[in-house]
Amino acid sequence: VCFIEQTWPGAEDRIPTFPGAEDVLSMTRRLLDLCGMDSVRMNQFLTDDGFEAGEEPISILRLALHNFGILWDPWWDPLAATKLLINTAIQEGTDFEQRDLFGLTPVVSVTRNTEPRFWVSIVEKLLEAGASPLQVDNDGCGILHHIIRQLSACNDHEMSEDIAEGLVNLITNLITRYSCDPLLSDLAGETPFDEALAPVAWGLWCRALVLANRNIEEDLIAQDARSRAWHSESYLQSKYHRALKLIHRDAGSFFYEQEDSETSLRCPNCGKSNVWQLRREPFNCFGSYLTKINAEFVQHTYAYNHRDGSYCNNIRNPNTCKVKQHGGNKTYCKRSLSELSWRKHVAYRLWRDGLLPNPSQAQLVVSGFAEG
Ligand SMILES: [Zn+2]
Ligand SMILES: [Zn+2]
Repeated sequence: VCFIEQTWPGAEDRIPTFPGAEDVLSMTRRLLDLCGMDSVRMNQFLTDDGFEAGEEPISILRLALHNFGILWDPWWDPLAATKLLINTAIQEGTDFEQRDLFGLTPVVSVTRNTEPRFWVSIVEKLLEAGASPLQVDNDGCGILHHIIRQLSACNDHEMSEDIAEGLVNLITNLITRYSCDPLLSDLAGETPFDEALAPVAWGLWCRALVLANRNIEEDLIAQDARSRAWHSESYLQSKYHRALKLIHRDAGSFFYEQEDSETSLRCPNCGKSNVWQLRREPFNCFGSYLTKINAEFVQHTYAYNHRDGSYCNNIRNPNTCKVKQHGGNKTYCKRSLSELSWRKHVAYRLWRDGLLPNPSQAQLVVSGFAEG
């Protein structure tokens, strides 16, 4: 078990030579075959990481996906390794619907721990092998919530066109072929649309919806009806014109980025260490924060800014924010579904009218930051 735990995520000192994925896989197979190791409930034998042995069932598949991007060694080809491992897991009769403590199944946890450029092939491989894309986690979020939320969290505006296209096609496929519902509400009443209010994710999400033959305006109205949020057309138009004016008024001088000199740690999803950026309306209620998960691990998270769109230190370091905007004892500035509603309508109009044609242009328009 120790061999697998240490080698799948990428051993540093544990193994003397650097094996390729094939070598590690054949060693793994031997352990499974000769030693009778249980590939579905491996952690019955593990007491690391604060878990009591057997408290949370972790299959070999989950372990590999979970650790995919945390330790990165040049000799390791994570995609090849993971694909080989999925084959092994299938042969071993792995449980594709096994949940972690957050209720995430392996196919959903792919988006938590790996780079978007790997999502398409790993998710498709798991789906072909029979994993269900319709499971929801403990918060009621489905795979579309998770995909779009992590894209919003990283807001990787330097994403290549190939990767962007692949993600759009993945989302389209999940909706059309696998019946994932883009209007699925989580326990807070939020849909994947609400997870998409960031410059890069919003454009990709809208493109995928159109390719899936969705009528975005009707989808927005359906969400409004469900959450009893309603804004008159004249109100939405005035918000839209205000957004357009803001884009043109402070063009060029708007860009502001929160810097962090402390950390050299990078987000495993995008490989970057940018901390936070200022955004224009309607995208200023959420920010992409580089959050400290523990001493050795950071990750971009998609979280509420202060009401004026400014940076909230609570997202990065809990209970450290000095700004008194949160109200009561709340640690962050949650917004109503009604507020999210007008923001989605305005964001859609910006996309419809061609202002957010691709990730880099969307970033320029929303954050005032040009490439190079
Ligand atoms: Zn990131
Ligand atoms: Zn704050």
